[in-house]
Amino acid sequence: MNIIPPGSTIGILGGGQLGRMTALAAARLGYQCHIYCPGADEPAVAVSARHTQGAFDNRVALETFAKAVDVVTLEWENVPLQAMETIGRYVTIFPSADVLRVAQDREQEKLFAQNAGIGTADFVIVHSAAELKQALKNFPLPAILKATRMGYDGKGQVKITPAIKAEAAWNDVGGTTGILEAFVDFVCEISVIVARREDGAMAAYPAVENIHRDHILFETRAPASVEAAVAEEAERIARTLAEKLNIVGLLAVEMFVLKQPNKNGHHILVNEIAPRPHNSGHWTIDACACSQFEQLVRAVCGLPLGSTAPHSRAVMRNLIGDEVQGWQDYLKDSQAYLHLYGKAETRAGRKMGHVTWLRELAIKKT
Ligand code: AMP
Repeated sequence: MNIIPPGSTIGILGGGQLGRMTALAAARLGYQCHIYCPGADEPAVAVSARHTQGAFDNRVALETFAKAVDVVTLEWENVPLQAMETIGRYVTIFPSADVLRVAQDREQEKLFAQNAGIGTADFVIVHSAAELKQALKNFPLPAILKATRMGYDGKGQVKITPAIKAEAAWNDVGGTTGILEAFVDFVCEISVIVARREDGAMAAYPAVENIHRDHILFETRAPASVEAAVAEEAERIARTLAEKLNIVGLLAVEMFVLKQPNKNGHHILVNEIAPRPHNSGHWTIDACACSQFEQLVRAVCGLPLGSTAPHSRAVMRNLIGDEVQGWQDYLKDSQAYLHLYGKAETRAGRKMGHVTWLRELAIKKT
C-alpha cells in the first residue's frame, strides 16, 4: 500500500462544504490541499493552499492539476468518468471510476446492492412518459419517480399518487431516464459511514438517524435509537458494500428501517450510497476523536484509520437558506458547535452551515 505522508498535496475534486471540511482536516494533519472546481468563490477554495479553476471537461486544466498533486479524492460523486480517466493517467484517484460508475446511477446502485444480497425498494426503469404510463398500470401507489442520474436533496424526484398524471410526473423529473420506486413505509431513516483503506482495513461509524424535511436532511441524531440488532445489520450492510465495491475512501449508505421484515426477509432497505463524506456524518467532527473528514484523509493516504467511537451523543442540524441568519444565537449557546461554510450568497434550500449539540453518552463505548 502506497503511503502518502503528511507534507504531501491532496487534490480534491469539487469545491463545496464537504471539500472545505476535508481540507481543514487535512491541514490539521500537515497536508496541503489543491481544489479542482469550476467556480472561483467556493467554500473549499477559501481554506486550501491551491486551486485550479476549470470545468470537468477541460482536459488541459485537469492534466495540470493531476501533475501537481500526490493523490486525488473527491467530494462530489458526479465527476464525469472522462475526467477521472484523464486525471488517472497521472495520479491515483480514491475512490476509483469503477465506484463512481455505480454511485452515479440509481439503477446501478440498486442492482449492486441486490447482487450483494441486500434489500432495496422494488423498482422499474422507464425511458419515456409512455413507458411510465404503462409501468404505472401494474405498480402499487404511492410511488416515487426519480431521475436515475444527478439527483440530490430530492431534486429530480416526484411522489406519484393516483391524482398525478404520468406526463406531468415525467416532465417534473426532467425527462431523462427515470426509476419508478415503490414508496417505502419506513419507521426511520438511518445511515452508516464506513472508511476503507487500499489494504482492505475498515472502520465504521455507528448508525445514525436522519430526519428529512422537504427531501433535505434536517437533523441527524447520533447514534440512532434503533435496536442493537438493527444497528449491527446496518453496519454489516455498509461494510459489505464497501468491500464489494473495493472502495478506498469513505462510503455513506442511506437506509430505510422497516416496521417488520419484507417479503424477502429484509428489515433494512438501502436507498442510496455516496462514495464521499456525507452530511449525516458532520456530527463526527465534534463527537469523535477522528471525524469522517480526517478518516477520508487517512484512508486515501494509507494512514492508520482513526477511532470511530463517539465520546458523546450528538444532534446535528443543517442551517439551510435563511436559517444561517441565526448564527449569533448559536454562538451564545454554550452547548452548540457552529460550523459556517463561508458561502457568499444565501439561497433557499442551500446548505449554509450546520450546528452540533453534544450530550453525555448513555450507551457503552466500543
Ligand atoms: P433520495 O434523493 O433518494 O435520498 O431521497 C430523499 C428522501 O426522499 C429520502 O431520504 C426519503 O426521505 C425520501 N424517499 C426517497 N425514496 C423513497 C422511497 N422509495 N420511499 C419513501 N421515501 C423515499
